[in-house]
Amino acid sequence: MSFSYLSHLECPVCGRTCGADEVRQLCPCGAPLLARYRLNELGKDWTRDSLVGRENTLWRYHELLPVLNRENIVTLGEGMTPLLDMPRLGLDYGISRLCMKDESLVPGGSFKARGAAVGVSKAVELGVQKLAMPTNGNAGAAWALYAARAGIEATIVMPQNAPAITRSEAALAGARLYLVDGLISDAGQIVARAVAEDGLYDASTLKEPYRIEGKKTMGIEICEQLGWKLPDVILYPTGGGVGLIGIYKALLELREIGWIRGRLPRLVAVQAEGCAPIVKAWQERKERSEFWPDSATAAFGINVPKALGDFLVLRAVYETAGAAVAVSDKELLREQWKIARLEGAFICPEGAAAFAAARKLAEQGWIKEGETVVVLNTGAGVKYPETAQVEPPLLNIGESIPSRLS
Ligand SMILES: *Cc1c(COP(=O)(O)O)cnc(C)c1O
Ligand SMILES: [Zn+2]
Repeated sequence: MSFSYLSHLECPVCGRTCGADEVRQLCPCGAPLLARYRLNELGKDWTRDSLVGRENTLWRYHELLPVLNRENIVTLGEGMTPLLDMPRLGLDYGISRLCMKDESLVPGGSFKARGAAVGVSKAVELGVQKLAMPTNGNAGAAWALYAARAGIEATIVMPQNAPAITRSEAALAGARLYLVDGLISDAGQIVARAVAEDGLYDASTLKEPYRIEGKKTMGIEICEQLGWKLPDVILYPTGGGVGLIGIYKALLELREIGWIRGRLPRLVAVQAEGCAPIVKAWQERKERSEFWPDSATAAFGINVPKALGDFLVLRAVYETAGAAVAVSDKELLREQWKIARLEGAFICPEGAAAFAAARKLAEQGWIKEGETVVVLNTGAGVKYPETAQVEPPLLNIGESIPSRLS
């Protein structure tokens, strides 16, 4: 039994393989590299029962994660978030079993902690001392925090109007933090120059192969929490798409080792109408997306005008007979409010977008009444105070609350 069954890295475009024992970024052909495991062996050595009594974090799946040596793990207790039933909302949508995988409860308040935990741990194992990344906020915050815990220097570049709290997180964690008056794509160009000039480890989305491995654990957890029965549909708010690609990768790996069987869930990539390159590509049955000019949405984490892994997102959607859906900011903000009212959950605008899409797909009959539907809430609503502006009445000292009867 090995701690990890990591075998090598493989390019999903040209098929080239390479060793996973040194720092790797993109494949020479320009595509992201994916981690591959000795799944045959793992299918024989590993059983679902062996998870009983393991730690309640994503590291419970260490055999299917890339860190070879337990000592290199950098953790803040991430993973194993609740899968909550949403019965009142389900009734409202006309879906008999609607569940929320709630990522608001991970360190830093967004699921980005998963990618950071595994990405930073593997960086430690590979001897990385300095990393850099562009971000829409949450990823930079998470990587800065985990890098601080690991003693790695982090350089972070984010749009000036990214959620303010993510700036504080990154700065407090001691990252070299820079803002740019532009989009994540503009931040990406600045980081690419720094990487080339200063020899930093490029932790940009999918430019290192291990962030996705952390994110895929959302898919494993959903399966474990449903008793290894598969839901019919999974909806995911899609920016760079790593979460969705990761969930699909997890499903394929679990099927390969014999832990799940049958039809895979239909995967739904949800975007905002103000930034919907994947939805447009899906509607046109294309393999890749095009850059979305002047993108804008209140759901900041999914404001990604062109994703490096767009073809992998689209592949996951096509191969599972899924869909790609765009919702307006008005719809997603209304849904955020509705979910707090009906279920007591203050979720992030990105998660609310995924719920708004579930409502739409149920209305259109694409989701059927008896189906089990899992929606990813990727972060905490409290990180976005500006999307929930309220004006409660102000009382003078000693004044009474007005009677409802009068
Ligand atoms: C980054 C982010 C997303 C998008 O995640 P990808 O896996 O890059 O598509 C969604 N929601 C929140 C809150 C995020 O921070
Ligand atoms: Zn390649």
